[in-house]
Amino acid sequence: MRRPLVAGNWKLHKTVAESVALAEELLHLLGEVREVDILVAPTFVALDAVARVLRGTRLAVAAQNLFWEPAGAYTGEVSAPLLTAVGCSAVILGHSERRQHFGDSEAQISRRVQAALASGLTPIVCVGETLAERRAGRTAAIIGQQLEGTLGALTPSELRSIVIAYEPVWAIGTGVSAGPAQAQEVHALIRAWVRARAPEVSAALRLLYGGSVKASNSAALLGEPDIDGALVGGASLDAREFAAIVRSGVPASCTQP
Ligand code: PEP
Repeated sequence: MRRPLVAGNWKLHKTVAESVALAEELLHLLGEVREVDILVAPTFVALDAVARVLRGTRLAVAAQNLFWEPAGAYTGEVSAPLLTAVGCSAVILGHSERRQHFGDSEAQISRRVQAALASGLTPIVCVGETLAERRAGRTAAIIGQQLEGTLGALTPSELRSIVIAYEPVWAIGTGVSAGPAQAQEVHALIRAWVRARAPEVSAALRLLYGGSVKASNSAALLGEPDIDGALVGGASLDAREFAAIVRSGVPASCTQP
C-alpha cells in the first residue's frame, strides 16, 4: 500500500563535479527501478547541477535544510522558493546533526516544516533519541516530544504531505544500526502518534528508518511492517551500495520471474 522511499543524504560531501558524477552513476544503475521512490540530497551548491542531471527521471532531488522566510536580509540562508526553483521536491528537516551542531530547536524545525509545505516541498522530518535517552528508558517520551514540537501544529491534510524519518542518534554514522525489531517498535509508536491526530492519514504516511543503513542490513529493516524505506547517509555516497539498498526495497512480488 505504501510505496517504499529510499533517500540518500550526501551531507557535506562532494564537489559539484563529484555530485554530478554520482547522480549520473545512480541514474545509470537505478533509472529503471519503478517500485521504489528514490531521492538524493546533495549540498546546496550542487542542487542545481544534480537536478539538471535528474530532471525528467525517476530520481528526485532534496535539500538538507531550509530557512523559513522566503526572502529578505538573512545572510547565509536558503529558502523554500529558491529550492523549488532549482528543481527540489523535498527537504530533510530536523536532522540530528542540525539539532546537535547548529542548535535547531523544535520550534525552528516546525517553522521550517511549515515553510516547506507552503512551497510544495515534501518535508522529511527526522526524530530520534540519543544513547543516554535510550538507556534511561526515555525513547518513547523523546520521540513523542519531538513529534509534538515539530509536527503538532499541522492539520491532517498537512500531515498527509510529510515523511517522517526515525533516526536514532546513536546509530547515525556509527556503523551500528538499530535492529529491525528495535526500529519497528519505534516506527509503530510514531504511526500511533499520527493515528491519534489524523486517523485517516496514518496508514498512508511513509516512515523511513535511518542510522547506519547498508546493503547488508536494509532488506531486514525494510521488511518490517512499519518501515517504509530508508534515509541513508554514508552508504549513499557509494553508487553501487546505494543502488543495492534501493533494490532491497523492491517488494518480493516484483522481483519474482
Ligand atoms: C543520516 O545522515 O541521516 C544517516 C542516517 O547517516 P548514516 O547512514 O551514515 O548513519
